[in-house]
Amino acid sequence: MATLREKRAELERSRDEALSQIGREEEFRRSGRAPLAGDLPEDLVRLYERSREQTGLGAALLRAGRCGACRLDLNASELNRVKAAPADEVIRCEECGSIMVRTEESGL
Ligand SMILES: [Zn+2]
Repeated sequence: MATLREKRAELERSRDEALSQIGREEEFRRSGRAPLAGDLPEDLVRLYERSREQTGLGAALLRAGRCGACRLDLNASELNRVKAAPADEVIRCEECGSIMVRTEESGL
């Protein structure tokens, strides 16, 4: 009887392991998807569409302190404003209204 009990305990253990493995994978999939969905909230998509209608270019990279849409250099106070803004804040060019996407090449 002892071996049967042991056998069952082992089966339960491997079942629990399998379940927790599935749980981890599920969690991983969820957390992997969440940032993507979070990157494009509805109001940002709307802002992008509006900006694209106005400027013909919804968003552009901010490169070396210059707006990628209108190619104008940001002045020092504008650069400081962008620099001080939190990473998740949407920055728009004061000249052309395009959404400026900050990267490591933004010169901030
Ligand atoms: Zn611009």
